[in-house]
Amino acid sequence: MRKITIAIDGYSSTGKSTLARQLAHALGYVYIDSGAMYRAVTLFAQEHGLIGEQAEAAGLEARLPEIDLRFELNPATGRSEIVLNGRNVEKQIRSLEVSSQVSQVAALGPVREKLVALQRAMGNQGGVVMDGRDIGTVVLPGADLKIFMTASPEIRASRRYKELLDRGEKVSYEAVLHNVRERDYLDSNREISPLRKAPDAIELDNSDMGLKEQFERVHAHAERLIAK
Ligand code: C5P
Repeated sequence: MRKITIAIDGYSSTGKSTLARQLAHALGYVYIDSGAMYRAVTLFAQEHGLIGEQAEAAGLEARLPEIDLRFELNPATGRSEIVLNGRNVEKQIRSLEVSSQVSQVAALGPVREKLVALQRAMGNQGGVVMDGRDIGTVVLPGADLKIFMTASPEIRASRRYKELLDRGEKVSYEAVLHNVRERDYLDSNREISPLRKAPDAIELDNSDMGLKEQFERVHAHAERLIAK
């Protein structure tokens, strides 16, 4: 059977990774979380003092060759998790501290060049669901199915807030909403590969849509393309 490539882009906390994971599971495909890669580079920059108020392009650029990123399957959860220089950092990269600086790091050209090359290598064999901000436009412009996800900032912030509380992080709803809005702005207005809907992407506003309905709609699209 034909193995297709699925690109899922959209604003922060729209549930891209949940949908991508469900699709990958249902189709027996590999899920690649490109945001986790930008988050891991941000964690590296924070741990090595390469980031202050602003991401310092020169310092981080010089250290990029030291960064090894891979995904490994966690047998306990069945999920693929990100490994930075041999260390599983899946949990650390989800903190609000990383979230608050990742968009600055993701705006840096050399960072994008390195990560896009890795993502293309992982994604161009088909049988892949990749989510991010520029997957349908830049990383895999030839993807068979492109989805662009949106929802109101308040709904997205309340979903993310719950997630962080469940993980035991002490955060306020206002701080999460601020972060969601700030990342939307920075991701949409950066010079290189800004967040844009690809002309051939299907827009999915899930403000009032449950996970099941969302999954069934996109899964049906994917099955139609696979059967073609
Ligand atoms: O998807 P997630 O929210 O984990 O992504 C974190 C950040 O990484 C985004 O806000 C964005 O700044 C950056 N990103 C990106 N391009 C991608 C994926 C993520 O610039 N393909």
